[in-house]
Amino acid sequence: MTDQINLKLKMFHEAKAPVANGLKRDDLLVLKDDAFESNHGFIQWAFPTNEKSYHNFSAPALDLKTATWLANNDSFCEFLEEMTARFLQFLADNSHWRRRHDHNHLRISRAIKSIRLLHSWELANWFYEKVKDLAGPELELMEKPMSYWDEYASPIHDRIAGGFVGLAIGDALGAPVEFCRRNTFETVTGYREGGKFNLPAGAWTDDTAMAICLAKSLIEQNALDQTDLLNRFCCWAEHGENTSTGVCVGIGQNTLRVLGDYRRTGSLEAKPFGAKNDGNGSLMRLFPAIAAAYPNKDLALSISKQQSKVTHASTIAEDSCAYAADLIFELLSGAKLSDAVGQINSADWCDPISSALEMELTGFSDVGIRTTGYVVDTLQASIWAALNSNSFEEAVLKAINLGDDADTVGAVTGQIAGSIYGYSKIPSHLKSGLVNERDLYVLSQFIGGAVNG
Ligand code: MG
Ligand code: MG
Repeated sequence: MTDQINLKLKMFHEAKAPVANGLKRDDLLVLKDDAFESNHGFIQWAFPTNEKSYHNFSAPALDLKTATWLANNDSFCEFLEEMTARFLQFLADNSHWRRRHDHNHLRISRAIKSIRLLHSWELANWFYEKVKDLAGPELELMEKPMSYWDEYASPIHDRIAGGFVGLAIGDALGAPVEFCRRNTFETVTGYREGGKFNLPAGAWTDDTAMAICLAKSLIEQNALDQTDLLNRFCCWAEHGENTSTGVCVGIGQNTLRVLGDYRRTGSLEAKPFGAKNDGNGSLMRLFPAIAAAYPNKDLALSISKQQSKVTHASTIAEDSCAYAADLIFELLSGAKLSDAVGQINSADWCDPISSALEMELTGFSDVGIRTTGYVVDTLQASIWAALNSNSFEEAVLKAINLGDDADTVGAVTGQIAGSIYGYSKIPSHLKSGLVNERDLYVLSQFIGGAVNG
């Protein structure tokens, strides 16, 4: 993963250099229709993606760092919105593309993907719906490109963003009341500052930081590489990398011990540490393991367990991650939560998991729900919160207001509820108030399918 922003794109957007086949950024917005049709060297600049163009070798391809920089740049986002409108106008004013083969179909694929990566699934999907309207009855001739368009605009991407950004939202909402006993604090209804680590409102903790480390490792390595993952955890713990405030906060006792062992002995798997191995530290960061392996469920379950072993090597912790991975995989695929829980419960799970999750949780009082650091408690509490809610916000607030390990039960509920409702259904105040929200959104869009099994 490069640490440099793509120089060509920086020149194009910041210095307004004429590098898009001789055109400047502002030129693209006023291209006449005949130039829009015949110039083959600008579309990769207008709608950059992470795939190299086979038609224009000098065009830029997005890496994560550059994509994050662009998504945080208001002037770029305005340009992308204007370019989207310009492209639709071109498609509306011309009819030659409404046929079986046309180079504009590739441009449509690229635009859907670029808008989703850098702006939102909602805008990408809106653009695609407009394209379908403009195509009219000729849409049926475009069966082949439509298979790509459907894939790039699939709601799976919205649910993946929901699960990943949802993890961070739950963590940030819960952080100020972590370690507070239930019913001893003012009910949380939104972001607030404070807590044990005295964080600003909207800042997140170790749960999200470790999920970012896992996501970046899977994207970079295209596999679960324990050494790479442990190195990233160490950089987080030692230098505050991938944090919301520049400082590592909330690191668990078990994780600290494991990273120390790794630094001293190079050990890639957590050593037995009694019940501490059954903590929720590998469940709280789980989501990238599932999204990276999607749509391969066996791989998702296997990576979920492997990533647990690195810091929490125990049957209970690993099986809790596998259970949650199975559940989240089904939710990403569009299953109803109660159906998915019923189906997963029919498989064989170790005893603490089966007794905690085979009971009827819908309508169950919070009195019986525990929010300790024990992984099975966290899993049960998160599923309870999601089952007894009708929206993302309700689920996450219900979870964190249980107190104690509030940020972690919030992070796990955020993964589950975000996968159900999708990013587009998360209230905007929870997105705008979250520290580094755009970075997390873009990262979520690079995770999907990063590991090809
Ligand atoms: Mg935490
Ligand atoms: Mg916690």
